[in-house]
Amino acid sequence: MSEDYRSMWENLGLDLGAHDALLEVLGKGYGDIYLAQKDRPEGMGYFDFVMSEVHGLRIKEIMDEKEAGKKVIGSFCVFVPEEIVRAVDATLVGLCTGADFATEEVEKLLPRNTCSLIKSAFGFKLGKVCPYLESADMIVGENTCDGKKKSYETLNNLVPNLYVMDIPQMKSAEGRALLRAEYLRFKEAVEQLTGITIDAARLKKGIEIVNNKRKAIYRLSGLRKADPAPISGLDALLANQVFFYDDPVRFTESANKICDEIEKRIDNNQGVFPKSTPRILLSGCPMAVPNWKLPWIIETSGAVIVGEESCVGERGTRNLTDESWDTVEELMEAIVDRYFKVDCAIFTPNPDRLEHIVEMAGTYKADGVIHYGLQFCQPYLMESMAVEKALEEKNIPTLRIDTDYSMEDVGQLKTRVEAFIELIK
Ligand code: SF4
Ligand code: SF4
Repeated sequence: MSEDYRSMWENLGLDLGAHDALLEVLGKGYGDIYLAQKDRPEGMGYFDFVMSEVHGLRIKEIMDEKEAGKKVIGSFCVFVPEEIVRAVDATLVGLCTGADFATEEVEKLLPRNTCSLIKSAFGFKLGKVCPYLESADMIVGENTCDGKKKSYETLNNLVPNLYVMDIPQMKSAEGRALLRAEYLRFKEAVEQLTGITIDAARLKKGIEIVNNKRKAIYRLSGLRKADPAPISGLDALLANQVFFYDDPVRFTESANKICDEIEKRIDNNQGVFPKSTPRILLSGCPMAVPNWKLPWIIETSGAVIVGEESCVGERGTRNLTDESWDTVEELMEAIVDRYFKVDCAIFTPNPDRLEHIVEMAGTYKADGVIHYGLQFCQPYLMESMAVEKALEEKNIPTLRIDTDYSMEDVGQLKTRVEAFIELIK
């Protein structure tokens, strides 16, 4: 950290000792996994900086915004519409975390067989180590999977500002009507929180900011079709992770800047891995910071990741909101339409996701797909069978991995991934 942020963390109620320990582990992991990579695009320097300051400068900026009267809203899911949050000049931050923390304490509140993503969010709260969670004026929980839905009843006892949003489970007219009603309710809630009434100009601006951010990260995804791969999967994942924390306008500029650089790399046939390195599409549960285990295993086993079919990846970013409408009502309908296309495994049936995975495997010229499911994540583990079948029908080799945030299975995972890469070679 370039400044001493200790008093800021203390004021937020963080446990400084535990937080120091977390930052130490995070810094070491980042050095070993990220900084050890060779020939990275220069533009990754920006994302390295953001990561080095993710609990420092970024939190300071957020605290300054709060001081100026702006609000911070935390979310655990890409179904929380950032356009509406931006329309009231508030900041949306991702609260999902990718590391185990305070597991013993967590398991006093949640069953052991809860997925790591949920446990980790609770661990960061109970361990008092997440400045994003502590700075949030509103925390939005969403009724997606059963694990999250029921755990919010417990989280409600731990935080004073939980807002729960219902989410449909079927892509039906009734499902869309539910999402629409919930987004209108959310709009009212953020208007109440901020004292700002959303008019068409505000909503249009919010949509534009978020669309630009999504266009920039989707542009980066598109460049990964090239062979040799011009950016590692680890670095592309990092950009997708920073997407959830950074100032959106600055993020858009930085993502576009690295895209300009990567286009030049492609013109010069310059890659981070040799041409014809086996290409992997990752599909499944989202990977929040600092969950880099599986990508690191894949990219140190002789393959490169060329795309993520994930909410920290294309599932969360590929669709834009139609900004051509003029009234608040029309723009709200456009937002509902945009989010209703998200093909999370909580939907039943969910054929769009299968089609999208097959399509992505073709677009990114993947030699194989690795499906990543978190242990105890029923929606994605159940759906992984159908994913494997859909890919088999297209003769696309598939490996299904179930894992968690611990490092205990690294050796075993590496053996399986290496065997899979040998197979697709
Ligand atoms: S996987 Fe589903 S529940 Fe998780 S962030 Fe994505 S949409 Fe939300
Ligand atoms: S990983 Fe699966 S079980 Fe965990 S929060 Fe996401 S959808 Fe729910």
